[in-house]
Amino acid sequence: IERTLSIIKPNAVVEHNIGAIIHRLEQAGLKVVAMRMVKLTLEQAQGFYAEHDGKPFFEKLINFMTSAPVVTMVLEGDSAITAYREIAGATDPAEALCGTLRSDFGGDNVTFNAVHGSDSPESASREIAYFFADSEVN
Ligand code: ATP
Repeated sequence: IERTLSIIKPNAVVEHNIGAIIHRLEQAGLKVVAMRMVKLTLEQAQGFYAEHDGKPFFEKLINFMTSAPVVTMVLEGDSAITAYREIAGATDPAEALCGTLRSDFGGDNVTFNAVHGSDSPESASREIAYFFADSEVN
């Protein structure tokens, strides 16, 4: 059993796709163990994406992530990190397989790719702790 941190990004929230996305994740066997809707501050978004600070797309990414609320979730299941990434699809919606979240709910640019998911157990631990207190996830 494993946990991963999922974010439903602003474009998917604005386009009323929260329910559809959570439905697919639950149908795939991922259990929601914690969830919060939040409008990220600049500092929160910059801190979350600190590894990308300085990259050409950083400012656009931060502007996007703070443009409207996001839904943060802790999901649990067998191989949750890999399972989630398969359901999400490739980073760029244009390259994501049909039926993946990013193909179906992503926008016309890699920035607007509808969802985030942790990419390793180490990232998952860090990202879960970034958004949730111990008492919310234990
Ligand atoms: P994946 O789950 O596929 O690894 P990710 O969200 O972890 O995607 P990162 O490489 O960590 O992808 O990039 C973080 C986010 O920054 C992406 O989800 C996307 O929104 C945005 N991004 C990444 N690369 C670019 C780029 N070349 N141009 C614009 N935005 C980008």
